[in-house]
Amino acid sequence: MALIVQKYGGSSLGTLERIKHVADRVHQARQEGHDIVVVVSAMQGDTDRLIQLATALTAHPNPREYDALVSTGEQVSMSLLAMALHNIACPARSYSGTQIGIMTDHAHTKARILDIKTHLIQEELSQGYVVVIAGFQGINPRGDVTTLGRGGSDTTAVALAAALRANECQIYTDVEGVYTTDPRLIPEASLLSHISFEEMLEMSSLGAKVLQMRSVELASQHNMPIRVLSTFTNHPGTLVTFEEKIMQRRLVSGIAFSREEAMIAINGVPYKAGIEAQILMKVSDADIEIDMIAQNAANKETADFTFTVQRKDFAKTLIIIEELSRTLNATSIQSNANVAKLSLVGIGMRSQTGVASKMFQALGQIGVTIQMITTSEIKISVVIDESFLESSVRVLHDAFELDKIKLEKQPLFMET
Ligand code: ASP
Ligand code: MG
Repeated sequence: MALIVQKYGGSSLGTLERIKHVADRVHQARQEGHDIVVVVSAMQGDTDRLIQLATALTAHPNPREYDALVSTGEQVSMSLLAMALHNIACPARSYSGTQIGIMTDHAHTKARILDIKTHLIQEELSQGYVVVIAGFQGINPRGDVTTLGRGGSDTTAVALAAALRANECQIYTDVEGVYTTDPRLIPEASLLSHISFEEMLEMSSLGAKVLQMRSVELASQHNMPIRVLSTFTNHPGTLVTFEEKIMQRRLVSGIAFSREEAMIAINGVPYKAGIEAQILMKVSDADIEIDMIAQNAANKETADFTFTVQRKDFAKTLIIIEELSRTLNATSIQSNANVAKLSLVGIGMRSQTGVASKMFQALGQIGVTIQMITTSEIKISVVIDESFLESSVRVLHDAFELDKIKLEKQPLFMET
């Protein structure tokens, strides 16, 4: 018998029919003899609707009241799911984050979980109840309701699984698991039977939206494997787990990308100590997040400085850089608001060489010009014109034979 934390996302709970279906799944797992803790998101669209209500009323909703409002979505789904479980004679009780004791810091709208009280959950489980808990919310030291940021129910589930020392944390969603790349773009994308925490973090940070990034960080800190799987099929999904558990290390596990990028270069600025900070600080002071950075100082007198930001920040950033260019006497500014970022991710790159050259060769063969390159131990990222994105993902998916990745059997539950 195992202790399983199951989290169901908004699309899995979008209608009463779906809630009944989820109840059946939960009931089935319990009948197999397991202790089940369920974490729920709000019904599909509910959180968006609540946020719209707030922002239609006021441009700057008070954060305390905002959290009180948007946390109600999860309370609707938790009680409906408990009722649906009662309908099929499965003992269940639902609890809000406050009732259970999901203790967070004070940071309204993006709170972090500090501690979770487990005694009430343990007590209910020992009496045979399925415990249904509202995701995405907690309570701060003042006793006010907080929320954990969009997608935060994933983090609730992982934190609960870690606190309860669960055998597995299952994240149920409307896709079968994690794919080598977005199957909407590349239909031949393979479903991965497993992926390491680190690879998953790189994929999530680039918009592979299956899991909230914070939940993957938390899972890796606590060595708590996460299984991502579909509510609507019986496929075992993708196990996100620690590297040591992965027998066969793939060279490349996936291709992540994001379209909404923009690039700005400021050329011919004086080459002197501290110049980089001077440029970057002006941008970050305006609350703009800089992603990739490259610098070139070929002649040792002046330097060219290139960086990327999210496209929504492009116009604002350009104004700042134009101003800087005058103070620094820069020779020119180049910008491109239509770039995309594409990354190859794989833990196998740590020990094998040749990935970058193979990547650049494949891109070169179809005439893609690369505007920027950065690398980390397990990732190679390039900035390219957005119009090249689709063909680039396709050619790399082929070159690294990601359509041929075989599913490997994963143990059903982790031993604890
Ligand atoms: N309902 C919240 C959201 O839509 C939390 C979640 O779904 O994880 O962001
Ligand atoms: Mg989500």
